[in-house]
Amino acid sequence: MIEEDNWRERVRVTRGDITGLRVDAIVNAANETLLGGGGVDGAIHRSAGPGLLEECRRLHGCATGKAVITSAYRLPAHFIIHTVGPVWRGGSRDEDALLASCYHNTLELAKIHGVRTLAFPAISTGAYGFPRRRAAGIAVRAVQEFLEKDKTLEEVIFVCHDDENCAIYRELLGTW
Ligand code: ADP
Repeated sequence: MIEEDNWRERVRVTRGDITGLRVDAIVNAANETLLGGGGVDGAIHRSAGPGLLEECRRLHGCATGKAVITSAYRLPAHFIIHTVGPVWRGGSRDEDALLASCYHNTLELAKIHGVRTLAFPAISTGAYGFPRRRAAGIAVRAVQEFLEKDKTLEEVIFVCHDDENCAIYRELLGTW
């Protein structure tokens, strides 16, 4: 008999700081230089310590929509997957597809590295200005598509730094 699998049971929404999560991998909303920045990127570099910047320097950047993996140094996670979200420029510069690529490439990289628990921030919705509901829809769809075909990931956590994003994700996922 084929077991029923409900992808929603492997997705969770939580409010807080992604740096404190004890998961296999956390995702960083990085910039193309990979040399640190503000927002979640700054928080991750501060908590991980200088070893992270050293490793990132050796990667020589990352293009928008792509993803790279590093160790997590002082963080409780094992890995950090750095992905570069698009800057919102009104919606006609391929922003939706680039944001979807961030999620797809991150999930593929997680799978290759045997990651079972993975936490995402709301990529591009801070300094990069992507409309939040639109970004959350893209994030949830990409994760759904992946979980429906892949059974290695046991849990995907959407980490929201504020109540507004939390409410959006919970509404989309129907998990109040
Ligand atoms: P981007 O440049 O991709 O927009 P930001 O870091 O500015 O990246 O913002 C992305 C999202 O991460 C925003 O919704 C912001 O509220 C959130 N964020 C900021 N700090 C943290 C953190 N420590 N943990 C989780 N999410 C965070």
